[in-house]
Amino acid sequence: MLKIGILGGGQLGRMLLQAAANYPVETFVLENDTECPAAHLCHHFTKGDIKDFDAVYNFGKGLDALTIEIENVNVEALEKLEAEGVKVYPKPSVLKTIKNKILQKQYYQQHQLPSPAFIITNNLDELKQQESFLPAVHKIGEGGYDGKGVQLLRTKEDIAKGFDAPSVLEKMVDIHKEIAQMVAINSTGETALYPPVEMLFDPTLNLLDYQLCPAELDEKTKSKAEAIALSVVRNFKSPGIFAVEMFVDKNGDVMVNETAPRAHNSGHHTIEANYSSQFDMQWRIMLGYPLGNTDAILPSIMVNIIGAEGFSGDVKYEGLEEVLKIENAFVHLYGKKQTKPGRKMGHVTIMSKEKQELLHQSNKIKRTLVAKA
Ligand code: ADP
Repeated sequence: MLKIGILGGGQLGRMLLQAAANYPVETFVLENDTECPAAHLCHHFTKGDIKDFDAVYNFGKGLDALTIEIENVNVEALEKLEAEGVKVYPKPSVLKTIKNKILQKQYYQQHQLPSPAFIITNNLDELKQQESFLPAVHKIGEGGYDGKGVQLLRTKEDIAKGFDAPSVLEKMVDIHKEIAQMVAINSTGETALYPPVEMLFDPTLNLLDYQLCPAELDEKTKSKAEAIALSVVRNFKSPGIFAVEMFVDKNGDVMVNETAPRAHNSGHHTIEANYSSQFDMQWRIMLGYPLGNTDAILPSIMVNIIGAEGFSGDVKYEGLEEVLKIENAFVHLYGKKQTKPGRKMGHVTIMSKEKQELLHQSNKIKRTLVAKA
């Protein structure tokens, strides 16, 4: 049986392990928090820092393969392990490019992949010289997560909100839709595309709010998005599962916002709504099995359950029983003991042929199921 390790023990690791239970594989997790969502679902748990060279190297050296559930890991240790014969999904070279937004933007540029125009600023003084580039979006090169490393700079007064560190300053796009496309690619280069999803964001928290699958796109936009997503992923020359986040602007142009080289929030609905989920697919890739069927079984909406404003501490779910009575709703709670405002605590997927039904149920679920302390 192959021994496969996961760096990170959050909800993505947890759902990956739920899918692992269907396959002959021995699972390992490295994570600092012994009470993390994935801690109790793996065969072997190691407490340690995924950003630390020795912790990652020692964790990985006896294993057949490693994967990640977050990009912010020690890539040097993964490179050494890869050189010593441990398979890494995705390849460390991809992680290096993606975890730094400057390198990521340069990657799109080098491969002629459409992405908003940008310049690099190394500190606030350099940013102050770029008034004429506004309105723009300032994105910190390393360490940003879930919207925390992103500032919208509309006017010169906003410049003070920018980052005093190497960052990307990107032209602000007049966004019509934000979409995401999951792409799977195996070790022989075969690919499978999931239907694209369409996202709506909570403007205050900047976290994914709810998401419709399939996205409502005309055929032309859909083919553009598919071609771009495939090209982004193929050029990495690495097996794995990827989420390519894109903007469709008011002119119908499609451009890449960013790519995640792993299972992603925008693929959670695939657990119930598609034949092979993003997590199932990841095991198929790592275990050398045929790629799964990415078709949607039914249209869906996925709602993130995020910690309610004003509550921090031991979580209590309000409205859970009521939501569990909805027959076409699938509830996932991530097993986090503590809630805080904006923390991703779970998600619910609703499936139906009728868009009105999806919208009605998702709004009801959002109002009913609340994570409080
Ligand atoms: P994160 O990695 O933190 O999710 P993103 O790069 O996805 O950061 O940016 C977060 C959000 O900011 C996007 O979903 C989008 O709504 C907005 N945004 C990012 N880049 C641009 C842009 N160039 N133009 C307009 N809005 C943008």
